[in-house]
Amino acid sequence: MTGLSFPWGDKGHKLIANKAVELLKEKIKNIEQYQDYITEHSVDPDTRKDQDKTEGPKHYIDIDFYKEFLEGRMIQDKDQLISLYSDSVVTKMGLLPWATLETLKNLTKAFKEKNRDKVLIYTSDMAHYVGDAHQPMHTILNYDGQFTNQKGVHARYEIYMVNKYIDELSDGIKGLEVAYVKEPLDYIFNYISDSNSLSEVLFAADKFAASKAGSMESDEYLRLLWFKTKYITGIQFEEAYNSLASLIYTAWVDAGEPSFSEIN
Ligand SMILES: [Zn+2]
Repeated sequence: MTGLSFPWGDKGHKLIANKAVELLKEKIKNIEQYQDYITEHSVDPDTRKDQDKTEGPKHYIDIDFYKEFLEGRMIQDKDQLISLYSDSVVTKMGLLPWATLETLKNLTKAFKEKNRDKVLIYTSDMAHYVGDAHQPMHTILNYDGQFTNQKGVHARYEIYMVNKYIDELSDGIKGLEVAYVKEPLDYIFNYISDSNSLSEVLFAADKFAASKAGSMESDEYLRLLWFKTKYITGIQFEEAYNSLASLIYTAWVDAGEPSFSEIN
C-alpha cells in the first residue's frame, strides 16, 4: 500500500476502540474513565503519517506478496523475512504485524511503570493497528483494486459505506469474549490471514454493486455494496474489538494487573 494512507473511516476506528473498552470493563476495573480518550485517539496513528515517514508501513501488510504465505507457511519472524527479501522490500510490503507486537510490548511496559500517558498512547495505537488489520484491503497487494480495474474500492468500502451504515454496524455487534493471548505474534498473523481471505468477497461485491447501480458514486451503489458485505463486515468489526480487547488485556495481565487508580 505504498505511499497511500487509508484509515477505516474515522468512525470505524472509533467504533472498534469504543466497543473494545466496553468489553474490557468487566476485566479491568476503572478503565472506562479512559473510554472516550481511547476512542478519540484511535485515529492518531493516521494523523502521524504526515510528520513521521516511518509510520505509513505500520498500517498494512501486503501479505499475499510472500510466496510462503500463499503456500500456508508464512514466516512470522521479521529478521528471517528480511534475510530472504531485504529490509526495503519487507518495509515496502508493510510492517503491520510487527508494529502491533511492538505496541503490545510498549503497552505492557507502560502498565508496569504505571505511566498513564503512555498507557493511553499505546492503547490508542493498538486500537488503530488492530482495526486496520481487520480491514481486508490492508492485508493484500491489490489494496485498492488497482490490479482488477476497481480503483477506489478501498475508500468506497471502508469510508463511504462504513460511515453510511455505521449505526447498523454498531447495533449488530455482539461481544464475544476477552481472552489472554499466549502467542501474540501468531495471534496477530492469524487475524491478518483471516482478513486477507475475505478480500475476494469485497471485490466481487464492488463489481456487482457498480454494475447494478450503474455508478460507484450513488447511494444505490453503497446500498448494494452494504447488502453484499454486511455480514463479513460485521464479523470483521466483532473480531477487531475482541482481538483488541484481548491484546490490551494480555498487556495488563503480563504487567501484573495494575489497578487503574494507581496509574497516573
Ligand atoms: Zn491506519
